[in-house]
Amino acid sequence: SEFEEKIDYVFKVVVIGDSAVGKTQLLSRFAKNQFCLDSKSTIGVEFQTRTVNIKSKLIKAQIWDTAGQERYRAVTSAYYRGALGAMLVYDVTKRQSFDNVARWVEELRAHADNSIVIMLIGNKADLVDLRTVPTEDAVEFSENQGLYFFETSALSGNNVETAFLKLLDEIHNVV
Ligand code: GDP
Ligand code: MG
Repeated sequence: SEFEEKIDYVFKVVVIGDSAVGKTQLLSRFAKNQFCLDSKSTIGVEFQTRTVNIKSKLIKAQIWDTAGQERYRAVTSAYYRGALGAMLVYDVTKRQSFDNVARWVEELRAHADNSIVIMLIGNKADLVDLRTVPTEDAVEFSENQGLYFFETSALSGNNVETAFLKLLDEIHNVV
């Protein structure tokens, strides 16, 4: 279409992190502004797209979902190929999902491009009473590792747009 021809860049972004942290819901919130209450785990690799305007450039974000592979530690290097950005998601109510973030960073360092922009996301920030990961722990980790960091809620939508746009803006700065 005429609109497609005006796109300046296509940025591939991968969403990774433990199972059930809210990766698919974050993606659906950003791409479609939807939260699906009875979402089933995804089967098969898939991506969603959304086109946004950043600094007067039309950027098509092609955002890939791990599609359940995270359970079997079977995210393949093909998934990371060509990715310019990564959303690394943990659940602020599940300490284990935060402890596993270091392993996901290693995974990125091993399989993704050196220049990949990484955004650490503490999701489910709406579950205030169930929180087990203090914000400060994630701030410290992301500062040490050179990652960007936001806490989000795919449920309320809080910070989801901000985090994705920040990631796309930072990718745009390095391409
Ligand atoms: P994935 O396995 O990482 O893709 O996780 P899903 O997106 O399938 O979400 C796992 C579960 O967490 C589902 O029951 C979602 O409804 C729920 N969930 C996802 N994001 C949020 C959030 O921001 N807040 C709350 N309260 N629940 C969420
Ligand atoms: Mg999923």
